[in-house]
Amino acid sequence: MSVNYWNKKVETADREELLRQQLEDLKITVARALKTPFYKKRLHQVGLESAAEITSLDDFYRIPFTTKNDLRDAFPYGMLAVPVDEVVRLHASSGTTGIPTVIYHTRPDIEVWAELAARSMAATGMTSKDVFQNMMTYGLFTGGLGLHYGAEKLGSLVIPASSGNTRRQFQLMKDFKTTSVHATPSYMHHLFNKLQSEGISRRELSLKKALVGAEPHTEDVRKKIETLFKIDVYNSYGLSEMNGPGVAFECVYKQGMHVWEDSYLMELIDPDSLEPLEDGAEGELVFTTLKREATPLLRYRTRDLTRVLDKPCECGRVHRRIARIKGRTDDMLIINGVNVFPSQIEEVVMKLPESGTNYQIVVEKAGALDQLTVKIEVNETVFSDDARDLNALRRKIGDYLKASITISPVVELHEHGILPEFEGKAQRVFDRR
Ligand code: ADP
Ligand code: ZN
Repeated sequence: MSVNYWNKKVETADREELLRQQLEDLKITVARALKTPFYKKRLHQVGLESAAEITSLDDFYRIPFTTKNDLRDAFPYGMLAVPVDEVVRLHASSGTTGIPTVIYHTRPDIEVWAELAARSMAATGMTSKDVFQNMMTYGLFTGGLGLHYGAEKLGSLVIPASSGNTRRQFQLMKDFKTTSVHATPSYMHHLFNKLQSEGISRRELSLKKALVGAEPHTEDVRKKIETLFKIDVYNSYGLSEMNGPGVAFECVYKQGMHVWEDSYLMELIDPDSLEPLEDGAEGELVFTTLKREATPLLRYRTRDLTRVLDKPCECGRVHRRIARIKGRTDDMLIINGVNVFPSQIEEVVMKLPESGTNYQIVVEKAGALDQLTVKIEVNETVFSDDARDLNALRRKIGDYLKASITISPVVELHEHGILPEFEGKAQRVFDRR
């Protein structure tokens, strides 16, 4: 496999050197943080008066975690470390889980982010020859602008299509021979469904790659998109608190996402005890910005669950990888006392040859108990079958789900086009209790 580096020196650096640099940048970051009202108070509370007191990672780990609530409390300027006139842009989280939060960027911050995005895209094999259609929303949400500047840096021809208007997306793809796209996995599914109804053949497109992210998705969802479009699909992870896309990205080997450790100090903790975890264990990702000027964040709890993969990657990058994100700690449903992650259900549903591209999870009260209903869109051929076959399929799916999550769900089978589709992040879970 051919491996393409954007910044070979940093991507394949000596690991010892990388760790040394991290500690240096950590001190600079703490010094910047001390300029903000929020961290000044927080750090003084644990007896930290100056960044010079940080001589090792252990010193640093005395600092308490930062949470999304801290960002909300500090709104609007409590975590800003530079004068407002040095700030050139702000982004706000899409607010999937509540009040939005704001992150500010200086010009050098934007430059660092573009570098990480360029590096990420180059890792998937993208080059200046690519025609890159960015179908993530442009605006306060970081999905659109985040990779935009990286792709320009790479020298690709960027089509800032933003999300939605599927018919126009196809037209752009045909007119300009788009080779790579960036979208949520749900939107890729939606696009495929529309491709068929618009009467467009997959062969009329020049598409070779899709970078997908912004929402949890299973390996089978990736495989489905790859098979439907006959392209390569790469997982892209980011969050607005850590800039946005370009935090962790898959390389051509598609075995987990490299976290750019020169820009982010990564920790993995047990979300309940808050104790650090060994590589390989599943836990919550915690990041510290190492290069950011305007909004330095120390030990930020992402609530995203994953594992750190400690084996070196065949691509030669020394930046450690993380496994596919299982979901957020707050995605977990407790159904009749059993912990269930929506991703466990998706894994079963997307493995079925009969399933289409869409599903929904509903939890309701049925008397004193919780009832889980899984609604699945299935291929048309299934509905032309005998009703007995439909019942058998329903039972089979129920059994598979029970085996995975230990709960018996009600399974509803639907024809394609019944469940809502999404242009951005999908909402598939409805907890009506
Ligand atoms: P919000 O927090 O309002 O959704 P963000 O745009 O900052 O706004 O969303 C970042 C979150 O999206 C991450 O913390 C994570 O939960 C999710 N996410 C982003 N990329 C991926 C990915 N590749 N796989 C799974 N989840 C992802
Ligand atoms: Zn790799």
